[in-house]
Amino acid sequence: MNTIDLRSDTVTRPTPAMLAAMHAAEVGDDVYDEDPTVRRLETELAARFGMEAGLFCPSGTMTNQLAIMAHCAPVSEVVCEATAHVYLWEVGGIMHHARASVALLPGERGRLTASQIAGAIRPVGNVHYPTTRLVCLENTHNRGGGSCYAWPDLEEIAALTRQHGLALHLDGARIFNALVATGQRSEDYGRLFDSISVCLSKGLGAPVGSVLLGSREFINGCKRLRKLFGGGWRQAGYLAAAGLFALDNNVVRLADDHRRAAQLAEALRPLPYVAEILEPETNLLLFRLDESRLTVADFLARLEALGIRASGFGGSWVRFVTHLDVDDAMVARVVAAVADLAT
Ligand SMILES: *Cc1c(COP(=O)(O)O)cnc(C)c1O
Repeated sequence: MNTIDLRSDTVTRPTPAMLAAMHAAEVGDDVYDEDPTVRRLETELAARFGMEAGLFCPSGTMTNQLAIMAHCAPVSEVVCEATAHVYLWEVGGIMHHARASVALLPGERGRLTASQIAGAIRPVGNVHYPTTRLVCLENTHNRGGGSCYAWPDLEEIAALTRQHGLALHLDGARIFNALVATGQRSEDYGRLFDSISVCLSKGLGAPVGSVLLGSREFINGCKRLRKLFGGGWRQAGYLAAAGLFALDNNVVRLADDHRRAAQLAEALRPLPYVAEILEPETNLLLFRLDESRLTVADFLARLEALGIRASGFGGSWVRFVTHLDVDDAMVARVVAAVADLAT
């Protein structure tokens, strides 16, 4: 019986069709700006999001950190949500690379409001404070259980940051999940954000890669910083080809992942050992166990014994993630397994 891996949407392996597209890629030395497939990926994604330029990088951590570093002059402060990936899971990179202070705000499932952000902006011209330069949003929000921003809220935040001359960065590791779930248009995002990081190696199923989007001038600056990070790469077109394949083939199907996450939530809801569920909006399903009935350690171990892998997500929380390598039959197996654990 094959393993069902619900730990993350990063565990997918390239399909034979994706591998064929990679094999057929036309490549060159990207440090010399001579890889046509990398260039095509960067140009196509930038166009989709209404941005001037793109920069293909190995990871979403790198695209986020390059953007934050580029946006922040010395003695800056970054405003973000308290459980934002850029703060929580990027090794303190804001401190290390941008050497910036961070103002953390408590979000509702990771979502911030314009009025919250307004309250965090430092007064200008007071020697005691760092200069607020950048606001980072995350959509969908990972720790918020794949939650999505409503468009009017994003517009309000963008109006505020513009009014205060702040940069606005989007950690869009799962932006395509948000677009599919809400029906928002990718082209509109370029109007609101100064920079956007998009992951190809999450729900889209590419083996490697994220793309940073922004103005031509901004991206040129980030390209130099990428080289500083040791991230200048050569025939990266083989990887870019996987990204292009993913954009053409694996976006619309994200709706299936969302439907399956909802089915799993449905199955967990009546179970006595489940204390709380963050209703899934996309492909991330976070739920809390009543550990007086079943501990997280036991839950994960008993699932593992049935060939089902999931992640402990801190405290009594568990995360299930649906993705390209989880089909309806697998969901049915998980539904039966979690029900069995209640008996
Ligand atoms: C996965 C993820 C990233 C980037 O992760 P990498 O593993 O560095 O590619 C950034 N932001 C969020 C919200 C993520 O989930």
